[in-house]
Amino acid sequence: MTICVVGHANPDTDSVMSAIAYTSLLKAQGKEAMACMQIAAADLNPESTTVLKHFGLTAPELLTDATGKEIALVDFSDLAQGPANLASASVLAVVDHHKIGDLTTNNPIFFRAEPVGCTGTVLNKMFKEAGVAIPKAVAGGMLAAILSDTVNFKSPTCTDDDKAAVAELKAVAGVQDTDELFMMMLKAKSSVDGVPAKDLLFRDYKDFDMKGSKVGVGQLELAALDQVAAVRADLVKAMEAVKADGRHSVLLMLTDVVKEGTDLVVLSDDPALIEKAFGSKLSNGSMWIPGMMSRKKQTIPNLQKAFGC
Ligand code: MG
Ligand code: MG
Ligand code: MG
Repeated sequence: MTICVVGHANPDTDSVMSAIAYTSLLKAQGKEAMACMQIAAADLNPESTTVLKHFGLTAPELLTDATGKEIALVDFSDLAQGPANLASASVLAVVDHHKIGDLTTNNPIFFRAEPVGCTGTVLNKMFKEAGVAIPKAVAGGMLAAILSDTVNFKSPTCTDDDKAAVAELKAVAGVQDTDELFMMMLKAKSSVDGVPAKDLLFRDYKDFDMKGSKVGVGQLELAALDQVAAVRADLVKAMEAVKADGRHSVLLMLTDVVKEGTDLVVLSDDPALIEKAFGSKLSNGSMWIPGMMSRKKQTIPNLQKAFGC
């Protein structure tokens, strides 16, 4: 049976490129595999679309239901972030760089997770360990994924392993200037022109369970905050609608990648709790948190602490 390699819902560049890269590795090892994602190519975020086009890669196939399938997960291991019926599917492998999620299996599986900045970094090691040369375009996609997940090395999640992987992958991909590649991606990613506020909110959005309270956290990485000034009120409206759908809090991180900080927009049943989580005060529904770049490493742990998780 063909192994469907799939990343998390609302796929980011790492989820997409890691699905492509792990599929490439599995095929090189004589397995039947297919890169998948949980949305149609037309709905992919502009950064990933730009990277696919730039390196001449094909978008993964749509996979929304895991029933009866053999699955490999990349960039996640939470059931909630997977395709429908993942719990009853046959999961054969996980390659990730997050905390271990709630997936359980009936059989032994291949499981590879490392505390590095990107799944692409883990996959680069796996290619080397397997003695498999990475195709040029795939190396480009993996390189882009690492730059994306580590915000061009500025995220606190970035490790020396990620930097070493970038140095290796840029040579394979024939990329001269990774800053230039990153700025091209950032421009594509942060473009808000003509995008409905709801789509912007869900561009990079995840729900979390905080001791029984559902908390949604979205993030927009921007070249400058004034990029969203005109749509800010509409973003808050979109957040209100999402919050009304059974959530304790909805947060939107407007991250200024150049200034290296986040304007955190907050809608909450308990604003004081959110203020406490970040040691700051809300003003007109938001607060500027210097140095905040990573949802995973900064925003979520602070929230978990405040919620008593
Ligand atoms: Mg991801
Ligand atoms: Mg990732
Ligand atoms: Mg990410």
